[in-house]
Parts: sequence; C-alpha cells; structure tokens
Amino acid sequence: MAKQILVTQATLPPFDEYVDEIRSIWETRWLTNMGEKHETLRRELKDYLGVEQIDLVVNGHMALEMSMQALKLKGEVITTPFTFASTTHAIVRNGLTPVFCDVNPQDFTMDVEKLESLVTDRTCAIVPVHVYGNICDVEGIQAVADKYGLKVIYDAAHTFGETYKGYGVGSFGDVSCFSFHATKVYNSIEGGAVCYRDAEFGQRLRDLKNFGIHDAETVEAVGANAKMNEFSAAMGLCNLRHVGEQIAKRAQVVARYRERLAGVPGVQLCPIDPRVTSNYAYFPVVFDEKVFGASRNEVYAALTAQGITPRKYFYPLVSAFDCYRDTYDPSDTPVALYLSLRVLTLPLYPDLPLEDVDRICDIVIGCQA
Ligand SMILES: *Cc1c(COP(=O)(O)O)cnc(C)c1O
Repeated sequence: MAKQILVTQATLPPFDEYVDEIRSIWETRWLTNMGEKHETLRRELKDYLGVEQIDLVVNGHMALEMSMQALKLKGEVITTPFTFASTTHAIVRNGLTPVFCDVNPQDFTMDVEKLESLVTDRTCAIVPVHVYGNICDVEGIQAVADKYGLKVIYDAAHTFGETYKGYGVGSFGDVSCFSFHATKVYNSIEGGAVCYRDAEFGQRLRDLKNFGIHDAETVEAVGANAKMNEFSAAMGLCNLRHVGEQIAKRAQVVARYRERLAGVPGVQLCPIDPRVTSNYAYFPVVFDEKVFGASRNEVYAALTAQGITPRKYFYPLVSAFDCYRDTYDPSDTPVALYLSLRVLTLPLYPDLPLEDVDRICDIVIGCQA
C-alpha cells in the first residue's frame, strides 16, 4: 500500500517547547478567562499581524459570529458563496440575510463589478472572503462601503500573516477575522482572532465573548462563551516562534507545484500578486475538462486511488447546501458555481517532501486524455 498523503498536516512545535510553555499554568492554576498566556499571545499577534487592535477568541467561526453581533447589524449582508460553511452560517445565525455576490474568475474573491448592484436600502454590511490567501480588492470594496455607509467584515481565515502593499491584511475594513484551527497555516489547536480599530467595538466584543458580562454586577448583552483558553494560547505562542520558517517551507512546495503544473493546458492556477506577501496556505487547481481532457472528479479519483487525498474545496457551493437549497439558487453566481465544480486543492504542508509533490503532479498530468 502506497504512503498516504492527506491534504494537510497540522504543525506542532517541538514537544519540550510546549511543555516548557505550559509549566507555569500549574503554578497559577489559571486555565482560561484571559490569563497570562492569552494576554501575551494577544500582544505578540498584534505586532506580528501589524494591526491596531486585536482580541482572541475560541475559533474563527466565533470571531465572525461575535463580530457581527458586536456591530449590531440588521438586514442584508452581501457575501460570496465560494467559501467555507462558517462565513454564511455566521451571518444567518445572527438573524441576518446573506445576499450572494459572484466571485471573479482569476482569484476567486468577491467581484467588485457585481457588488454595487446588490446594495439595497436593507444592506448593512459586506462580508468578503480572502479565499486561499488571495486578498480581495480591498480598495474597491471600501469604495462601495463608503458610498453606502456599510460595515466591512473580512473573513481572513486563509490569510494569516499576509500583507498587502506592506499593510497587515487584518488592517482593512472595519473588522478582520482570523482562524487558528489545526488545519490552518498557523494554529492554536482551535482559536481565532478579531482585528479592529474602534475601541467601543472592542469593549462590546470582550463582553460578548464572556456571556455579555461587563463587570461583576452588570450583564449588558446576550453574549455567548467564546474565550480562548490558556493551553490554546500556549500552543499559539509556541507556533508563532516557528511560523516564519513554516511559511518558507510551504513556499518551496508551492514553487514545485507551479514549476510542474504552470502551462499545462486546461489547468488554471491562481495568479501571483506582487503586492501581496503570501502565506502559501492552499494550492487550488481548476481543471477545464474540455481542454485538459479529464474532469476534476476524475483527477480526484486518480489521486485517491494512490492514497493521496486532495480536497474539493469549496464544493458544494454554500448556496447549494441542503440547509440553504430552498432559499438560494447556485446559478445566480455562475462563476462561483463553475469553480466549485472544477477546483481541487492539492496536498500542501511544510513537511510535504518535494518527491511527493512530483508524484502528485505525475498523477495529475497523467490524467490528460
Ligand atoms: C477555517 C475557516 C473558518 C472557520 O474557522 P474555525 O477556526 O474552524 O472556526 C471560517 N472561514 C473560512 C474561510 C475558513 O477557512
């Protein structure tokens, strides 16, 4: 049986480093509720991400959900269906109505040309997604937001540590939400962060993530529990020391994929944006069956038959989920629908050997008719 290769592999610090990091927790017995690890990580991430303000939460999903609640949004939210379930679920779970904007066919982020026509007098916010590490047209989106007085909340789950024109990606819009899930470029086992500028928003968020408790005798909002615990924060502190070298290793893997797959007819790769310092989070490939000679599903089957597990990410489109099927029509966003039927993200993690990348590419290229 050939060696199994999964789409991703969680990064861990050296075991002893983590043990050293958590030792002090046995002295303080402070396990959660904004302890010392939480505060240290918050400060370090603020510097690393180059943002004005940041708070930590239990996961990326709650970062989105709590941010929308803290902004007191009501009505319609313009977003894209070419994303992970979390983005749309966070909107709906806040009692808001998602309105789907199509994505552009080059980098799969929100198509700003199609944004303005979706604004109505009920629109309160825009929730774009920096998919696969591709940064949205932040200037174009901000121009529409300013014109109509809309909030902008970025789902930045895929863009940890990236910069655009030298600015931390988390500094755009009103709020940016990061995920530190085990499968992401940077993890705190489970975890997330909210980057923002407005101090009042920050206070509401801090209350909301702790049941809406403002102080010992005042509960001002109907909050939830979205606090990051000390063991997660400790993992975050350790992983932060190594993330630079991890991203450099990812870059090598991506360079090899590009070397092998760029120029193969019918194989579309994401463009390289010179204004962006990439984190090399994902390697999506879009297969045009008519030109390539094999469909995405055929390539998927060929790889899984050899013990290699890529991911049909993002498929199905959120607007095609069972829970949204009666409400939305995936054909309203034809580019997103086209991509969801043709995209495959190939295995990518820092320790993926280049020989394995070659083997994966050989199988992919071998699918050509
Ligand atoms: C991972 C992810 C989330 C959710 O983050 P969790 O930390 O898993 O809750 C949200 N949006 C996108 C685009 C993601 O990839």
